[in-house]
Amino acid sequence: MVVTRFAPSPNGSLHLGHALSAIVSHDLARGPNGRFLVRIEDIDGPRSRPELADEFRRDLAWLGLEWEEVPAQSTRLDTYHAAAQRLLHDGLLYPCTCTRKQIEALQPRIGPEGLVYPGTCKGRLLDPAKPAALRLDVERAMAQVGEVVWEDAVAGTQIADPRESGDVVIVRKDTPASYHLAATIDDAADGVTLVTRGQDLFHASHVHRVLQALLGLPVPRWHHHGLLVDEGGAKLAKRRNSPSLADRRKAGEDGLLLAEQLRLHKFPAGISLASAYI
Ligand code: GLU
Ligand code: ZN
Repeated sequence: MVVTRFAPSPNGSLHLGHALSAIVSHDLARGPNGRFLVRIEDIDGPRSRPELADEFRRDLAWLGLEWEEVPAQSTRLDTYHAAAQRLLHDGLLYPCTCTRKQIEALQPRIGPEGLVYPGTCKGRLLDPAKPAALRLDVERAMAQVGEVVWEDAVAGTQIADPRESGDVVIVRKDTPASYHLAATIDDAADGVTLVTRGQDLFHASHVHRVLQALLGLPVPRWHHHGLLVDEGGAKLAKRRNSPSLADRRKAGEDGLLLAEQLRLHKFPAGISLASAYI
């Protein structure tokens, strides 16, 4: 049985890249007993606009997709908190009170998620009045986990090594989780067997595989698909001015036809599929 999921964050409208991602995920679950889940990842603090979840549902239905919706992340904060406490208790997390500005000032290395935290707060006594995030002590985590592998349908077998991303945030200052912790816990809780998402999140799977090992969670397979890019090779991010799915839907475009074209890799002018964006 294949269980896939599409997990959009309601902090901006969906665009063509999301449509492709949802279709890939939906179609990979098409066999007998397959299940295609949708999970709203709504823990981005003030950036999260829950009203967008309804727009997403209308967009997906317009594309002709059928899905089962699983609980949104905002309903699972207690579960994330409990898992983070366990990691903290095991000495795998440490508090960090640094602001982004302070980290930038240290001119750290740039990794797949942007600035790589140079570990300034590790082992330090911190001002308890300052809000603190909790970061993964990646070296310690790796020492505990040893060599673990994960399987990507496109890229093949990978040895989990999240060190390139550094000591990533596991608990944010404003939320009892980060994307990494919440997505890892949810994929296990939702019974996802095939995690599908764009290649821009390939690096995250190294982190998630290590978290699965630390938390004793079941290990799915992954399928990181190519990304839609514009003429300049930049991915179609929500911020760029390509029309959103909602814009297209409201303008009367045929969603079923669009979905078929995306399946055939026929893209609007200026948009193409970058197959290796790792
Ligand atoms: N919520 C993430 C996003 O919209 C996707 C996470 C995932 O597929 O793991 O970028
Ligand atoms: Zn710090």
